[in-house]
Formats: sequence, C-alpha cells, structure tokens
Amino acid sequence: MEFDLSWILLGLPVAFILGWSASRLDIRQLRFENRHNPKAYFKGLNYLLNEQQDQAIDAFIQAVQLDPDTTELHFALGNLFRRRGEFERAVRVHEHLLARGDLSVQDQERAQQALALDYLKAGLLDRAEDGFQKLLSTRFKEQSQLALLSIYERTRDYVNAQRMANELEGSGQGDFKTRQSHYLCEQAELCMDANTVASSGDAPQSKARELLHQAIAIAPHHPRARIALADFEHSQGQTSIAFQIALELFEICPSGVPLICDRLLTWARALGQVSKAQAALTAFYEHSPSLDVLKALANLEPSTQKCQALLSHHLQKDPSLLVASWWIDLEKLEHESDRPALQKSLNRATQPLNRYRCAACGFEAQKHFWQCPGCQTWDSYPSQRVEEL
Ligand SMILES: [Zn+2]
Repeated sequence: MEFDLSWILLGLPVAFILGWSASRLDIRQLRFENRHNPKAYFKGLNYLLNEQQDQAIDAFIQAVQLDPDTTELHFALGNLFRRRGEFERAVRVHEHLLARGDLSVQDQERAQQALALDYLKAGLLDRAEDGFQKLLSTRFKEQSQLALLSIYERTRDYVNAQRMANELEGSGQGDFKTRQSHYLCEQAELCMDANTVASSGDAPQSKARELLHQAIAIAPHHPRARIALADFEHSQGQTSIAFQIALELFEICPSGVPLICDRLLTWARALGQVSKAQAALTAFYEHSPSLDVLKALANLEPSTQKCQALLSHHLQKDPSLLVASWWIDLEKLEHESDRPALQKSLNRATQPLNRYRCAACGFEAQKHFWQCPGCQTWDSYPSQRVEEL
C-alpha cells in the first residue's frame, strides 16, 4: 500500500494548533478560578488572623459560593461557626460536606469528626455519641474514645464509661485505673440510691458490695472505694467489718483517714474498740496533723480540760482559727449570756476555712467531692480543709 507523506506534513501543524488551544483553555480556566477564589479565601484568612471573625465568615461564604466544591473552605467555615457557638450553621456546613459524593475517605472521616464535635458542643449528646461511634475504626479512634468517655460521664452512664476506660487502658492510652474505680463506685452508689436491681439480676446490696470490691481491686491505693465499702457494711449492720476496713485505710491509703475518722470513732465506741481507734488516730496525727483527726481525738478525751489541752497543744504548733473557735466553745465564759452571739460570729468567720476546695478550679464546698461539680475534674479535692492548705 502506498503511504502519502503529505498527510503527515499537513496533520502535524493541525495537531500542534489543537494542543496549544486546549492548553490555553485550561490555563484561562485556571486563571479564572484563581482570580476569584484565592482572593476571597485570603481575604477571609486575613480577617481571621486579625480576629475579625464576622468579616472572615462573610469572606469565606463568598468564596464557597464562588466554588461550592472547595473542601478546605467548608472545613474552615464549619470550624469557625462551631467556635462562635453557631452550632446549627456548623452542622449544616459539615452535613453538606458529608453529602458530597466526590469526597475522599479521609475527608469524609474528617467531616464526620467535625459533625460529631458540633453535636457535642451543642449538647446533643445522643447524636454526638452516634457520630463518634462511627469513627472508632478510623484514624480518629483515640479522640473518639476520649469524647465518648466524656459523654458517658456527663450522662452518668457509668457502665459504658467503665468499658470505654478499660478499652483506653488496654490500648495503652494512659492509666485509667483510678477512673475505672470511680465509675464502679458511682455504679455502686446508683445501685444503693435507686435500690434497683442491676442487669445481673442480683439483689442491689450484693451488687453494690461486688462493685465496690471490684473498685478496690482495680485501684487498691485509692481511698474512695474502701470508704464507700466501710459505710456500706455499717449500713448493712456489719459494723465490725466497717471498722476493720476503716483501720486498713491508715496503712493502705492514709489520705482517706480525715474523711472517715468521725465514723471510725462511732464504730469504735459501738464495738468497744476505742483504744484501738485512738492509737491509730494518735499515730496518724503525729505524722500528719489533720484538723479532722484532731477533732476526732479531742472528742475522745474524757474531760473538757483534757480536750482543751489537746487543742491548745495544736494551737501552739500551728495557729488555726477553726481550732481556736473549738477551744472557745469549750471555755466557761465570764459572760455566758454572750456565748450565742460570740459563737455565731466565730462560725461565720470560720465557715470559709472549714470548706473543701477544688485544686483545679477553686470551687469550694462544705462537702468533699471525688469529682468536682464545677470543672468535672476527678480527685481534685484534697482531704484537707481550706485552712490546712
Ligand atoms: Zn473544680
């Protein structure tokens, strides 16, 4: 067959012209896009850096309208809405992203995580839980587990909280033993308070006891479960066991002693074991002069004089308005009719010193808490009163 070379000579320039035209079209398209989007984008970024969030949002909305497929802008906009507390708008942006079919798997997971965070911040905990559950098999697993843990705590779902803390501990993401122990104690308290039967079908009392023993086994050096178990056994008429558990605290977790020393004395009196309790408390006080332990020891003294001598001994070593007010309370006054007014004034002055204070946020309370009601931090309340800190 004869091959006509003239076609090649004609075809080459035509192919060149077509190729050049196509590349020019691409460049023009790119220039058109770049002319609009980056300008609005950088404008928004500039506002953001200058902390002008309202203007930044307007610029980003403009940029998104110009190119609805801009993924990063959507993420930036959604996060901005969330930070400003505009959760409904943040949810809309992230839902719009999730609905897009052209998103990569990584961006889909990112949008899912952002949406779950929107719900969490908005307080829609059931939707947030659902969102974070979907992320447990993704690269956001660790963050999702921690978020789920906080959701379970907030909803007082301590069964799931304990399961999640166990998983976090198992995957080497920190020490969650004390936290697990708290969750078991919370379950035991719920069991006792509600007097309901737990899922196992056991009687609430035996279930509560079992949970507290589990809590002790997980964190043996934490005082909460032991104190709770001692109180529980006393409530069940097992004062001897309660007294024994309270005595164990002196050796195993002495930080809990000031929180139980008043009941220890009551149980010791009931069992005729006062000397044993007194010996333990005296040894503890010599090592750590706690005000609660001092008060318990003062209550053991057989006479007012001896009681005052003990308080006076403390005052000589460590001046304390609380101890001084207890001493005055025992003193026979020359003007006894003034006592109510005097005591009222002293009580008012000492009341703030007699509280417990959260080391994390400073929230003060008359009662000791294992979890701060102000900042939700666990174990942030020391067992000492404000005056002792
Ligand atoms: Zn706090």
